[in-house]
Amino acid sequence: MSSLQKYRRITVKIGSALLVDRTTGLKRSWLASLAEDVATLSSRGAEILVVSSGAIALGRTILGLGGKTLKLEESQAAAAVGQIALAGAWSEALAARGLKSGQILLTLGDTEERRRYLNARATISTLLKMIAVPIINENDTVATTEIRYGDNDRLAARVATMMGADLLVLLSDIDGLYTAPPAHDPDARFIPLVERITPDIEAMAGAAASELSRGGMRTKLDAGKIATASGAAMIIALGARDNPLAAIERGERHTLFQPSSNPVKGYKTWIAGQLEPAGRLTVDAGAVGALMSGKSLLPAGIRLVSGAFSRGDTVAILSPEGREIARGLVAYDATDAVRIAGLKTAEISAVLGYEARSAMVHRDDLVVSRVGEDEKAEG
Ligand code: GLU
Repeated sequence: MSSLQKYRRITVKIGSALLVDRTTGLKRSWLASLAEDVATLSSRGAEILVVSSGAIALGRTILGLGGKTLKLEESQAAAAVGQIALAGAWSEALAARGLKSGQILLTLGDTEERRRYLNARATISTLLKMIAVPIINENDTVATTEIRYGDNDRLAARVATMMGADLLVLLSDIDGLYTAPPAHDPDARFIPLVERITPDIEAMAGAAASELSRGGMRTKLDAGKIATASGAAMIIALGARDNPLAAIERGERHTLFQPSSNPVKGYKTWIAGQLEPAGRLTVDAGAVGALMSGKSLLPAGIRLVSGAFSRGDTVAILSPEGREIARGLVAYDATDAVRIAGLKTAEISAVLGYEARSAMVHRDDLVVSRVGEDEKAEG
């Protein structure tokens, strides 16, 4: 193996369709081949984190639920049955290669709330120090629609950024990114390298998802934006072959997304990777300029406030054209934000009836996205 050699901490995401066959259940020999790859990387000193889907698909097979559409509580029950089998299979497959493993089940709040984020990070770091491979999935048995990651691509990206991984590998049912979904467009061209996820790249994704997994190319690009912003590279590669990581190293087809050359660090990694902003602030051109030069966002530059957010929530900051240019923790709740949008600092206290802070989003709590930087560079 050579091309994965330079990466020290690698998060590998495995889709349900790779691990589970609807009629025969778990694909044990494939799992054994992946465990062999993990052992090879680990023996070279890399730390590996696995984000494994498959709980619901496996539970469905074990319970004999066939292909019927499941109600929320049925898929949660299927996940309960499937997860125990899935984790057992991982533990056995890695043990056969001399590796220890530990199961981590995450709920959205575990990465989106700062205190829980730090706690989850400490546990996973400790596992890595003990040279045990974290096997991570969403805690599907308790996650309801409103509080779920929903797809393991974005979960894996969040894990990669939380743990400071330098590479995220998404093993998929497709061998990389094409100019259009190849199943629908025979002329679609393969893209081996993506330097930046621009709106043009995003337009290539289409909306298709495979039968067993929730995420299509769109969620993979969302994952890519989160991972690359924090300084991790991302690879999308075909998982449906034995030893899929060794295949990447042999140079089999895959798409490499380059990390940002100017990644955010520490506390700001947590802000930049927030999955669902609670609200949106559309700003004027003057505020765009101020943000690009590293200043706080003042109420005076805000044109439009949307969403029902509380003080301390993450909001997306949009340019006058509606493009997201930054993300940050907002200093006011939505009701007060609406009241003071457009006002000068001197006018705010009178409107609110209390001595208020001047910034809507303080620069210490603000991350300007690369898209924003590009707009500035292009003038
Ligand atoms: N967490 C789900 C499962 O293990 C999978 C979600 C996904 O495939 O993105 O069944």
